[in-house]
Amino acid sequence: MVRAIESIRLVKQNARMTKSRRDFLSGTLALVAAGAPSTRVLRAEATPRVTSEPFSLGVASGYPTPTSMVLWTRIAPSPLEPDGGMAPEVFPVKWEVATDSAMKAVVRSGTAFASPEWAHSLHVEPQGLESGRDYWYRFTIGDAQSAIGRTRTATAKGTKLDRLRLAVVSCQQYEHGYFNAYRHMLDDNLDLITHVGDYIYEVSWGAKGVRSHGTPEAYTLDDYRARYALYKTDPDLSAAHAAYPWVVTWDDHEVNNDYADDISQENDDPDLFLARRAAAYRAYYEHMPLPARMIPVGPKMRLHSHYSYGDLLSITLLDGRQYRSPEACPRPGFAGSNNVTQDCAELELESRTMLGSRQEAWLGGILKSDNRAWNLLAQGTVMSYIDEDPSANKRFWTDAWNGYPAARARLMNFLSSAKIPNPVVLSGDIHAFIASGLHQTAADLESPVVASEFVTTSVSAQALPQSTLSAWQAANPNLLVATSEYRGYTRLDITPARLQADLIAMDSVKTPKSGRKTLHSFAVESGRPLPVKA
Ligand code: CA
Ligand code: FE
Repeated sequence: MVRAIESIRLVKQNARMTKSRRDFLSGTLALVAAGAPSTRVLRAEATPRVTSEPFSLGVASGYPTPTSMVLWTRIAPSPLEPDGGMAPEVFPVKWEVATDSAMKAVVRSGTAFASPEWAHSLHVEPQGLESGRDYWYRFTIGDAQSAIGRTRTATAKGTKLDRLRLAVVSCQQYEHGYFNAYRHMLDDNLDLITHVGDYIYEVSWGAKGVRSHGTPEAYTLDDYRARYALYKTDPDLSAAHAAYPWVVTWDDHEVNNDYADDISQENDDPDLFLARRAAAYRAYYEHMPLPARMIPVGPKMRLHSHYSYGDLLSITLLDGRQYRSPEACPRPGFAGSNNVTQDCAELELESRTMLGSRQEAWLGGILKSDNRAWNLLAQGTVMSYIDEDPSANKRFWTDAWNGYPAARARLMNFLSSAKIPNPVVLSGDIHAFIASGLHQTAADLESPVVASEFVTTSVSAQALPQSTLSAWQAANPNLLVATSEYRGYTRLDITPARLQADLIAMDSVKTPKSGRKTLHSFAVESGRPLPVKA
């Protein structure tokens, strides 16, 4: 996303390759030839040379299980500098987990090591915690203590659970607006925040915003580190990370708009793009509360995962970028998305995949063997059928699931034939709220609805005009709502009988404080996947 605006940028970019891109491409080759440098000097005895606020990027937690979760921080006294203001040395950092908010009753503690290879980030996984309860945590380096974060373990399988509350977010373009959605979430008493992609934007685009990246498009590891650090200095984002555990998946802008596997939007040499992807994935790992098993290896990082809460909820996070087929029928000389008609024969090919065959098989296995009362699929792009041409002709935008119809059909047929209880797809990308029922045969609205979809709007990223969304809705009655006028988030209240989705709109993101309102509420009753207005 976003097409109209981004295609202008794309044309400009291809007209003149930027200096930083040239440097990146030549620098990458030099690095490959020389082998990556490694510096490792353990200074466990010395007092760490940390001068100003070392915890400038806050604390975070994520990926809760019934006995554990990931606790994150990054030591960065000068967060926007390439080295974070840290010497290229390893520093010991103390961590503590307590059962009270004053950190008096510490139940787990230890020392972790912040190394320059990973930008002095820490990912601690305390074990043996109690299920379904709050914990508090903090880090200490030298004399400096982090803020105290709050987190919550998941509920063990076999446990009856009456209620869960989640927020779903996507698309936080720093320049376009303030992250007010996160401040409002602090009042929501959430169990979990789920981010479905575009946590950063690698590039500036769109109309003039309220603040600036201050740096050009990201290509190198230093570039992506600085971009994550900048975003994480946002006080509302930081507060939401400290208040609740998160689970995350990415979309395209964590690396490059519209990328597909090893194909960049600019159609770079795939080996060179994979070097860029490796830098972006590494910076993503460094800045998110991700478990150690997700540590990237070069350009590969296994992000898709499955988490659950008691007998009530499973949430499967899907990676729709790393393994997908290239978008069908791109514009001549380009890669990335396009608007195509029924004349694009490639679009319908059975072999085309959004998730890759291995992730697709894994998903099927997980949903069959470990489903719960509600089964959420959190992923990047819109799954609802949208034919953008109101005439008898068809027009599909190829970056989302409308560009991968065979993959969507396989998923819908699986959900139906395996009788997966209450599948609910959570999506982002389009910077608009959409609610819909997903039909077994996408283009046939007479076919049964087999899942629900809630697309959350952007936290701040600019959107297509409402007239476009209204035209889609007029031509596609499966879209129960399609509104791009508000930035915000989606809040889910889940009980055994019912899932309610509140589409929460910010009054504005042009000022750092603004009100919110619930724009629409939809309910899904267990066993009846078509959302209804609540
Ligand atoms: Ca995109
Ligand atoms: Fe986006």
